[in-house]
Amino acid sequence: MCLGSALILFGCEPAAEKEVANAVAEAEPDVNPVVPVNAVDVLIRDAAVYTLNPEQPWAEAVGLRAERIVFVGSLAEAETMVGPETVVISQAGGMVLPGFQDAHLHPYTSGIDQFDCDMDLQPIAIETYVAKAKQCYETMNEREWIKGGGWNLTAFGANPIPNKALLDAVIPDKPAVFFSADGHTAWTNSLALQLADITSETPDPANGRIDRDPITGEPVGSLQESAMYLVGNLVPPPPEKQRNDGMRYALDYLHSLGITAMQEAHVSVDPEDPLQGLETYQAFADRDELKMHTVLSLRWNSDKGLEQIHDIVAAREKYDGRGMRVRTVKMFLDGVVEPSTAALLEDYADQPGFKGELQIPVDVLNEAVRQLDAEGFQVHIHVIGDGAVRAALDAFEYTQHLNGKSNGRHHLAHAQFISPEDISRFAALDVTATFSAIWAGGEDTFLTELTLPRVGPERYRWTYPLQSLIAANGRVAFGSDWNVSSPDPLQAIEAAVTRGNIFDPSIPVFLPQERISLEDAIKAATLNSAYVNHLDGRTGSIEVSKLGDLVILDRNLFEIEPMEISDAKVMKTLFGGKVIFQAAESP
Ligand SMILES: [Zn+2]
Repeated sequence: MCLGSALILFGCEPAAEKEVANAVAEAEPDVNPVVPVNAVDVLIRDAAVYTLNPEQPWAEAVGLRAERIVFVGSLAEAETMVGPETVVISQAGGMVLPGFQDAHLHPYTSGIDQFDCDMDLQPIAIETYVAKAKQCYETMNEREWIKGGGWNLTAFGANPIPNKALLDAVIPDKPAVFFSADGHTAWTNSLALQLADITSETPDPANGRIDRDPITGEPVGSLQESAMYLVGNLVPPPPEKQRNDGMRYALDYLHSLGITAMQEAHVSVDPEDPLQGLETYQAFADRDELKMHTVLSLRWNSDKGLEQIHDIVAAREKYDGRGMRVRTVKMFLDGVVEPSTAALLEDYADQPGFKGELQIPVDVLNEAVRQLDAEGFQVHIHVIGDGAVRAALDAFEYTQHLNGKSNGRHHLAHAQFISPEDISRFAALDVTATFSAIWAGGEDTFLTELTLPRVGPERYRWTYPLQSLIAANGRVAFGSDWNVSSPDPLQAIEAAVTRGNIFDPSIPVFLPQERISLEDAIKAATLNSAYVNHLDGRTGSIEVSKLGDLVILDRNLFEIEPMEISDAKVMKTLFGGKVIFQAAESP
């Protein structure tokens, strides 16, 4: 079945789609002589059209019929296609781009979090977070647990280990847990630790760490990586209303930023998953409420082995092709540098003898990647340390050696530190680096006070090496990691082009030699992310026969200072030829 609105959904072979599209075009009645035979449904004019089609990089107008682009060219020619029913969108001085795509973000949980205790606040300070915790405790009376997140590690100094006593003072009689903005640390009060049975006797779980008082051994209220789940799993799941509200919030917000395709960075394949991610997405797809090309990454459970492939295949069979692409597996290979949970090639600069650890043993990783690749999955791996990057590239090399080249379009998310020796391997193995470019925007205190002391100056030079990767023919895509950071693609583009801070020009530029061109940054946010999302045949550039997924900006990014890129406004977002967002002041 590949009819009607299903045309824009997954599961339709491109050839079949074309046939249907042609049939529709031929069947169009030509009864009214006033209507030009080539009349379009929507004409976008007066804005510079940047196509990402190397054969025709710029155009003056775009015409759409039904959900597709049928014309890209001059204004004079476009004017002959205006009929009485044509909706003409004029955005003088603006710019038209393909709809943005995000290859790694967490829209579902980010949306749900909006309705919890949100600590993504300024100023970044312990007092800010404690005051917010107190306020949530006082206002969220009906909740058994006070849960939230978004606090920034830098508030806690050079060794970012928050303490339970701070929370006990304001939330004395309810369990409370707050996740850090990067999602790798949980901060809890005493009651939460008590309910989770975490004492000085409790051993660290695999791939996790219970931070303890160095003298008494008593848990201090900070839990790293998998240890977060000891408490997190006790929090009652969000009710269905919050799950649906969260999803709607996320979709509306992403549309307002010009995003028309996304790769959800992980959903659980466990049918008992308290968040019910797969089911919620499926319900939105079934009701045609997504309005977003959606790729779901199925989470690999690092505590289990190859036997889980069976469950992953079963989830694909159940959900793939029903309005979403569900053929990606997401693994965590390490944590993050700041609390020393990233896997490095050499010792941490401030911890001789310690390199960090991979969360998946190498033999399991290699064989998992090989089997998943053979099964037709895309493998999507979280890597931060240069040791994790190398282990992942080794696994892809092992896989290619045994399976041959596949169309898996595997990608590595974040890739914060890449050893210079590994830069050229991305192109050689056809592995895309999905950078969270905002993190490279400006050398802030997070980098200078938390990151640099852990890795030392030599490795620090290779932080988010976007330009080095592009110079070595590597493919760069963008994945915002929302709500670790903002999902605004214009902010990512500005950060990648300037390596400066989007909000604060007083923050020094970070590794200016790794700035990339505006062309490359736009490509990362559109066509290259479309490649990762297996959508480049139908989206990612403005070409005849591709889908009418477009973003209209109020200014031409090529005519402004790079530092103003994120000031550009999204005036309209179109998905499959339909306006799904328009700015209040849009003409
Ligand atoms: Zn992520």
